[in-house]
Amino acid sequence: MNADHKLPTVDQVDPFISVEILDKNEVPELYYLVKEFMIHGPCGIENIKCLCMVDKKCSKNFPKKIREFTSINGKGYPVYRRRNDGRFVDKSNVMLDNRSVVPYNKTLLKRYQAHINMEWCNQAGSIKYLFKYINKGQDRASICFVQSNQQYDSQESVDEIKDYYSCRYRSACEASWRIFSYDIHYKKSSIIRLPFHLPGQQQVIYEDSDDIEDVLDKPSVAASMFLEWMKCNQSYLEACTLSYVEFPTNFVWKIDERKWERRKRGFSIGRIHAVSPSLGEAYYLRILLNKVKGPRTFDEIKTFNNVVYPTFRDACYAYDLLDDDNEYVEAISEASFSGTGYYL
Ligand SMILES: [Zn+2]
Repeated sequence: MNADHKLPTVDQVDPFISVEILDKNEVPELYYLVKEFMIHGPCGIENIKCLCMVDKKCSKNFPKKIREFTSINGKGYPVYRRRNDGRFVDKSNVMLDNRSVVPYNKTLLKRYQAHINMEWCNQAGSIKYLFKYINKGQDRASICFVQSNQQYDSQESVDEIKDYYSCRYRSACEASWRIFSYDIHYKKSSIIRLPFHLPGQQQVIYEDSDDIEDVLDKPSVAASMFLEWMKCNQSYLEACTLSYVEFPTNFVWKIDERKWERRKRGFSIGRIHAVSPSLGEAYYLRILLNKVKGPRTFDEIKTFNNVVYPTFRDACYAYDLLDDDNEYVEAISEASFSGTGYYL
């Protein structure tokens, strides 16, 4: 959390968390909501059968002690203000005062009209509970019948890992969701990664046992996504108005046929692989790919004002892309989304 939102001191607890009965005449609605939803008990000797009672004592430690001020105890937990102000509510003919109020937030209580226990938990340790609750799935139980024969028991080995995997409980709604194969998650919009390479340096994948001639004859060697893009620029007029990264907005890569085709519907965002400046020419090629539209050959990428430059770096200079430090500024701000400070 941002430091401004942390409520790090005790003074900031009281405005957000209330643990007191309110004035019946001043705020009648909230008074009744607290009475209805935020009172613990009655328990103790008045109601020994209350669910919270364990060994004749309230397991939640109600009623709490009267306190004039909110404070933090030695373990870092808050002890809320519960003043002895003479206010009480009548629950099942038992008079309960501020000592029996469950911490609540006025705004949330008023809005949702339900029991919402609000706690101050300004500790890193709380976060693990948050994620645990979100990801843990439903509660479950595993039940089986076993012979209570001493000899039998001692021979039985317990496979805890197997038990853990095999007894996940799914509720009816989750089960039906999966039976109907509804999406568990999805991604939007679709993104296509656009590889590129220097002339003659496309990636080639082969097995140990493959014959070198066969490998070189593979269609994937002659038709990389990048080379096919340039080929496309030769045949489609509208392709020439698009840079490589814009290309997937109007064209679709057909992986089986290894070629680009006109897009009929939908839309996709192109992403050109990031390249470290230390790679030299590949880095300068990438800079050019973000500027050049519709090149049909590698030479055309290196061409500026009808001059073919010997290297991609020279072409970048000709394009005025390297006269200032801007390419470094752009590279650093792009890398800042994923790189660490040390890397930057
Ligand atoms: Zn209790």
